[in-house]
Amino acid sequence: MTSADVVILGGGSGGYACALRASQLGLSVVLIEADKLGGTCLHRGCIPTKALLHAAEVADTTRESESFGVQATLQGIDMPRVNSYRDGVVSRLYKGLQGLVKSRDVTYVEGWGRLTSAHTVEVDGTTYTGKSVVLATGSHARTLPGLDITGRIMTSDQALNLDYVPGKVIVLGGGVIGVEFASVWRSFGTEVHIVEGLPNLVPAEDPAISKAFERAYRKRGISFTTGVRFASATQDENGVTVTLEDGSTHTADLLLVAVGRGPSTANLGFEEVGIALDRGWVTVDDQLRTNVPDVYAVGDITPGLQLAHRGFQQGIFLAEQLGGLSPRVIEDINIPRVTYSEPEVGSVGLTQSQAEEEYGADKVTTYEYNLGGNGKSQILATTGFIKLVQLVDGPVIGIHMIGSRIGEQIGEAQLIVNWEAYPEDLAPLVHAHPTQNEAMGEAHLALAGKPLHAHA
Ligand SMILES: Cc1cc2nc3c(=O)[nH]c(=O)nc-3n(C[C@H](O)[C@H](O)[C@H](O)COP(=O)(O)OP(=O)(O)OC[C@H]3O[C@@H](n4cnc5c(N)ncnc54)[C@H](O)[C@@H]3O)c2cc1C
Repeated sequence: MTSADVVILGGGSGGYACALRASQLGLSVVLIEADKLGGTCLHRGCIPTKALLHAAEVADTTRESESFGVQATLQGIDMPRVNSYRDGVVSRLYKGLQGLVKSRDVTYVEGWGRLTSAHTVEVDGTTYTGKSVVLATGSHARTLPGLDITGRIMTSDQALNLDYVPGKVIVLGGGVIGVEFASVWRSFGTEVHIVEGLPNLVPAEDPAISKAFERAYRKRGISFTTGVRFASATQDENGVTVTLEDGSTHTADLLLVAVGRGPSTANLGFEEVGIALDRGWVTVDDQLRTNVPDVYAVGDITPGLQLAHRGFQQGIFLAEQLGGLSPRVIEDINIPRVTYSEPEVGSVGLTQSQAEEEYGADKVTTYEYNLGGNGKSQILATTGFIKLVQLVDGPVIGIHMIGSRIGEQIGEAQLIVNWEAYPEDLAPLVHAHPTQNEAMGEAHLALAGKPLHAHA
């Protein structure tokens, strides 16, 4: 089939979600993918990194087993076996996804596509025509000017494929990807130093979370420099040396460059067709329309949070729009965010300072429930807290959490914020004992004026 209701360029989280939902709604779909169905998230992002983090947790648990009365010793990390466990996870999911796309009657085209008009994409000399065209070409790891990705200087793409545990690593960038790799390596025994130009690690989070995160990393023996920018890096056969703008230098075996991801929109015909770009990102309105009629964009190529589930949601939203439904727009601020590391961070909605800026400090109240009072967190030997940001006498507009495994609580947190729930709505509901989820209930009980396992 070379003509369809929807032609989608890029089969990552955004593109394939759009394809699956559009075909479910009876639309004919062509999905074009140059590399592997599933994109960054499945092959180079979310899934393989989380498999590494799980292996890292197993290493930590083994190392700390004595404190739980279990006698075990960590003999070492067999990286090729860790990688084959990771690859097994990815390949099972990949197979499943391929089967799913086949079963939904989506025309899947393997090849490099180029937008040739508002309604056409060309792949290897064949033109695919769509009533609508969806751009979903994703993102790639960025670097800094003059910092070449080669040898000992790498991005997450190369770091994921190391078949050994490095002795010492410098991580450039203390955002989600940087701290995630730092966490894995530290658990595997690597000496890690993070360099972050902004004043805090995980700088996009509520400052209370960033501070607690830094404390936890320090305790784990992960060192970091914040508020100082990178100046240059050199490498030779012995290692890599990084110089910062304050003149200080750090040496290591490897440098991981985790300074963000840029949109993959160059040389794809977008400019020629007149698609408006802003520093490479495709400009869209809240209905994901570009400036060119019938051309839409989803996922990492649109400005905003670069998250797989945002891509899924945008893909589904767009398919439903094209299928004649009226889906709900979800603003970026209300999309759940998890930083996967030890400890984890989960957040949704406004931070305290964002809320105070938007509504005024006197209209905002906060509450922190300490995980010290939570049975399951004691059992897991983790510390941390859940911070609620509430409009005075109004709904909860932000939830920020830190602790081992706390990212799993983001599901209820995003319901609370998106449903604009009041603490009083949550207080009568039951949270199973003993779970970390109880901490969510306890925090809302406290904010509703009836704390149970907490001080008022
Ligand atoms: C290390 C790492 C960890 C991450 N962890 C998480 C996480 O835990 N949770 C989370 O939510 N997000 C995570 N992300 C982010 C997540 O991977 C992205 O947000 C998500 O993949 C974006 O989906 P997308 O569809 O926009 O783009 P992509 O997944 O990048 O897919 C774009 C696809 O388009 C294809 N393509 C590009 N150009 C063409 C062309 N011309 N013709 C045909 N095909 C083309 C590419 O081959 C690719 O498959 C992580 C990312 C990284 C790098």
